[in-house]
Amino acid sequence: VGLLATGSMAACGDDSGDTSTGSSGDSSSAGMVGVILPDTKSSQRWGTDDPKFLKQAFDAAGVQADIQNAQGDKTQFQTIADGMISQGVKVLMIVNLDSGTGKAVLDKAKNAGIATIDYDRLTLNGGADYYVSFDNVAVGKLQGEGLVQCLSDKGYDKPVVAELNGSPTDNNATLFKQGYDSVLQPKYDSGEFVKGPDQSVPDWDNAQGGTIFEQMLTQNQKIKGVLAANDGLGNAVISVLKKNKLNGQVPVTGQDATVQGLQNILAGDQCMTVYKAIKQEADAASELAIALAKGEKPTTATGTTKDPESGKDVPSVLLQPKSITASTVKDVIADGFVTKEQVCTAQF
Ligand code: BGC
Repeated sequence: VGLLATGSMAACGDDSGDTSTGSSGDSSSAGMVGVILPDTKSSQRWGTDDPKFLKQAFDAAGVQADIQNAQGDKTQFQTIADGMISQGVKVLMIVNLDSGTGKAVLDKAKNAGIATIDYDRLTLNGGADYYVSFDNVAVGKLQGEGLVQCLSDKGYDKPVVAELNGSPTDNNATLFKQGYDSVLQPKYDSGEFVKGPDQSVPDWDNAQGGTIFEQMLTQNQKIKGVLAANDGLGNAVISVLKKNKLNGQVPVTGQDATVQGLQNILAGDQCMTVYKAIKQEADAASELAIALAKGEKPTTATGTTKDPESGKDVPSVLLQPKSITASTVKDVIADGFVTKEQVCTAQF
């Protein structure tokens, strides 16, 4: 309770930190940018944060952008892409629903002479011109380390750990798992932790994640910690734990610093989340897109990412994630990603 109280006080107490800035620019003869986001259900970000920050960045530069969301529908994704291509966009930025359908869209765009950017998710063998994301193995490591810390705080002896992974068709889910397993596997090997059920959730579907976890718990009542790959899956797990009066006793991880996730942390039901500054990601991606739309050669993609399927190095911008626990929820508020009013609605 001590830690919890400190956390909720730190986040919901007196100090407030609101930041918002804007800048303006001019477009002259820039072409149009098309952006396709994946869905609005797998995480708060796609329906709320990414479109907001992307729009702000394009507006500030005076560059016309068509930002659409495929609502989890691969056919819809293709249709939107076809529309943008025939509209004559100069740059196409996508968050794929899977690498196969993502590649089909990127191929069409390229054939039409359109510059392409993989936003957040690398399209395997997709051949995008640029890739903007976070260091996603580092995201997974933070999740693994967070869970280790929370389990050690609980003082559990040889806790059984369940893993609820993201979508098997999202390359990021593979990277997150690589990160957290690099922390957890040695603990399983040494016998410090016991490896429990380990399953992926198709399309990051939160409801399905809850069903899968319910089955895990029925089959293995001794689960003492859950590596949930994002806040949506974490919240689905927490709902099941609540039904079983186990919330707060079984640490659960997350990712995305969603309002719900941060509230679950302050309530003591979630161990941690990973904050990925979406504004930075949107700014980095739109900066590339704006340069390309103006027919300039971007200079900001200073790194590279090896596409494991094609073996090609994709020019990249990769940002650093940050671990958030009860005592640092306030940092996410101070960064302007969520407001105190959004997070501090309940009594913690
Ligand atoms: C993103 C996460 C998100 C997940 C589900 C991943 O590719 O990196 O931020 O939670 O997709 O939408």
